[in-house]
Amino acid sequence: ATPTSIMVGTGRAAELGVLFRRGDALQTLNDVTTVALDKTGTLTEGHPELTDLTITKGFEEADVLRLVASVEAMSEHPIAAAIVRHAKQNGLALASIDDFSSITGFGVSAVIEGRKVFVGADRLMSREGIDLDAVKSVGETLGQEGKTPLFAAIDGQLAAVIAVSDPIKASTAEAIGALHDLGLKVAMITGDNEATAQAIAAKLGIDEVVAEVLPEGKVAAIERLQTGGSKVAFVGDGINDAPALARADVGIAIGTGTDVAIESADVVLLSGDLKGVVNALHVSQRTMRNIR
Ligand code: ADP
Ligand code: MG
Repeated sequence: ATPTSIMVGTGRAAELGVLFRRGDALQTLNDVTTVALDKTGTLTEGHPELTDLTITKGFEEADVLRLVASVEAMSEHPIAAAIVRHAKQNGLALASIDDFSSITGFGVSAVIEGRKVFVGADRLMSREGIDLDAVKSVGETLGQEGKTPLFAAIDGQLAAVIAVSDPIKASTAEAIGALHDLGLKVAMITGDNEATAQAIAAKLGIDEVVAEVLPEGKVAAIERLQTGGSKVAFVGDGINDAPALARADVGIAIGTGTDVAIESADVVLLSGDLKGVVNALHVSQRTMRNIR
């Protein structure tokens, strides 16, 4: 493309709230055949709510919720905010904690009043040797409902099954339809539970799902989608998404997301609206068509 047509294209995109940080992204975008999307905060609002809480026999709900929320108060994950909010709404005062630790993609742990508390995904419980057989079907059902199942253990005993649900953004379904109309393959890449991811993907007609991945796993997933020379755009908002945004042929950050994501991206969508992805593709097509 000529420098002038690129300038016109980036200008038109800017009017639509799509900032091209690199001019060549406008050209590369026209060759993209797959759009991969992060789930939490990209396809969804990124503000989950606690929807379910089942307490194991022998434990007391207020006590478990207080301990769990006290650990989560130290975490920056949106799941943590949902749990803390729920505890506060129930009038519970948080306790002070020791030895907090956050295990990326697994969950959190701490010691409170001498009790060792773990909160996180089923794989955190497996790691800690907590048997989930008795609640396996509960977790599966929650996942099939598109909710994220979480588990809490206190002093080595399963104390609760918790679920959070993160609403899908109003703009998501239409944007995915528009990407399909452009003949693109749409994939989802997420650290969340497999069943949860599959349920949300099915609802949205997403073609391919990569779930339960760590940040490095997101890069590997992009590389897999690039097999055979396919050009891949990745859309994300989190710190976790930065390596994948850098690895994709075109990295697109949600402007309401983290600074790290924005800095790693070629394109920034000023609003959280996924229509921006479709607008970016349209402008790219028009720009490249003009010069051919
Ligand atoms: P994503 O951004 O896609 O949710 P993460 O790697 O941040 O991916 O998290 C993956 C999973 O790890 C979550 O779905 C959850 O099961 C677990 N997890 C992470 N942080 C926490 C937390 N603070 N409390 C409970 N579970 C957590
Ligand atoms: Mg995210």
